[in-house]
Amino acid sequence: MVESENVAAHEVIGTSRRDFLRRTGGAVAAVTALGTSAAQEKPNAANEVQLSQIHASSEAPEKAPGPFLPANKRVGFAIVGLGRLSINQILPAFAKSESCKPVALVSGDRAKALKLAAQYGIADSNITDYAGFEKLKEMPGVDVIFIVLPNGMHREFVVRSAKMGKHILCEKPMANSVAECEEMIAACKAANVKLMIAYRQQYEPINRTLEKAVREGKIGTLRSIVASNSQDQGDPTQWRLNKKLAGGGAMPDVGIYCLNAARFLSGMEPVEVFATIVQPKDDPRFREVEARCEVIARFPNDVTATFTTAYDTHRSTFLRLEGSDGFAEMDPAFGYHGAKLRFVKLMDGKDTEMAPSIEEEDQFALEMDHMASCVTNNQQPHTAGEEGLQDQRIIEAIYRSAATGRSVKVVPPAGSTRGPALPPVER
Ligand code: NAD
Repeated sequence: MVESENVAAHEVIGTSRRDFLRRTGGAVAAVTALGTSAAQEKPNAANEVQLSQIHASSEAPEKAPGPFLPANKRVGFAIVGLGRLSINQILPAFAKSESCKPVALVSGDRAKALKLAAQYGIADSNITDYAGFEKLKEMPGVDVIFIVLPNGMHREFVVRSAKMGKHILCEKPMANSVAECEEMIAACKAANVKLMIAYRQQYEPINRTLEKAVREGKIGTLRSIVASNSQDQGDPTQWRLNKKLAGGGAMPDVGIYCLNAARFLSGMEPVEVFATIVQPKDDPRFREVEARCEVIARFPNDVTATFTTAYDTHRSTFLRLEGSDGFAEMDPAFGYHGAKLRFVKLMDGKDTEMAPSIEEEDQFALEMDHMASCVTNNQQPHTAGEEGLQDQRIIEAIYRSAATGRSVKVVPPAGSTRGPALPPVER
């Protein structure tokens, strides 16, 4: 029996964007200025446009986006690297953000940067190339530098940003090695700037609802996690297949979603990994990096995570958490859009499927708004550098295991790798 949108399903459902941002402390600058009880309850309350509800109370209320901060109060972002992610996801996401605005662009291709600057209202004088990166220091309005470059360039540009005293949002994977991650964290600490790794899933309400449901025992005791994040890479000349620029193949690029999800959804850290990689000799794409990686990770309390990631299969993404009393599944799981969540549990003696309806949110707008709220409130980001460092430690253990054919122990972090918990997802 499918119970979409029924009462049982609503046990585990999520939230609206406004509620979510209120709980994440998003866009608080205006709230501080307002000082009213309404403003304390809802950031940007003064900017809210109220419309009457025309539906009966038996219908779900219509939801509006925002309220948004005015442009002159928004946190300014410089986008570094104008590739697919910046152009197709990040720049468009500013229209959905409540508290951020794009103010500067860094690119080796000035003609491309000028076109994008015109589209997003960025001054031509706020465009620079990589050699002139340090010009960001004096550019008006740059609060946060968002590094969206190939993985092998993250370390250099994070360290250069920290030296300018700018806060940094850095794409995943954080870097190519544990040593690089440690250097980045140290540089940001020394400069007293915030460093956040762009783990968009951790800010997204469907994932957050799943995390809460598992934490509250909705599937009983968590026993195992099974996941895949795979796709077919084309162009053999792209940087993702170059070890120096990518750090590895499918594992650090797309496998990291399975690994990070296993960690934040279980709330536990793996203590041992066993892995095998496939690097077909006859495929020119995989001269330097693996095509596929299969991992078994052991967590405390006999919880296991098994995942596969590939660069040579058709797109396949799913995640299943198996518990003593039921399972939760996202299929598809890791994309920008369209994640679907369902739970299967015994109800009245029958296996019953519950598919909560959770409003989709722009994951990039959510993560940028979180970064903005950390800057405004002087808080540690939820996915700070330590979160990226721990994934990198585990990835290095995964490669060691694949190279030796033996399982490899992973030293768990001394404490939580995440900053202050995000306020809970409301029903
Ligand atoms: P891309 O190849 O589309 O863009 C990379 C940009 O870097 C290009 O504009 C390119 O010109 C520039 N660049 C500068 N120096 C370069 C060099 N030496 N070699 C190659 N390119 C160079 O890549 P992308 O998909 O935008 O990925 C960028 C980063 O974002 C990566 O770290 C990637 O892992 C991450 N990413 C994250 C997500 C996510 O969902 N969070 C999705 C895709 C990519």
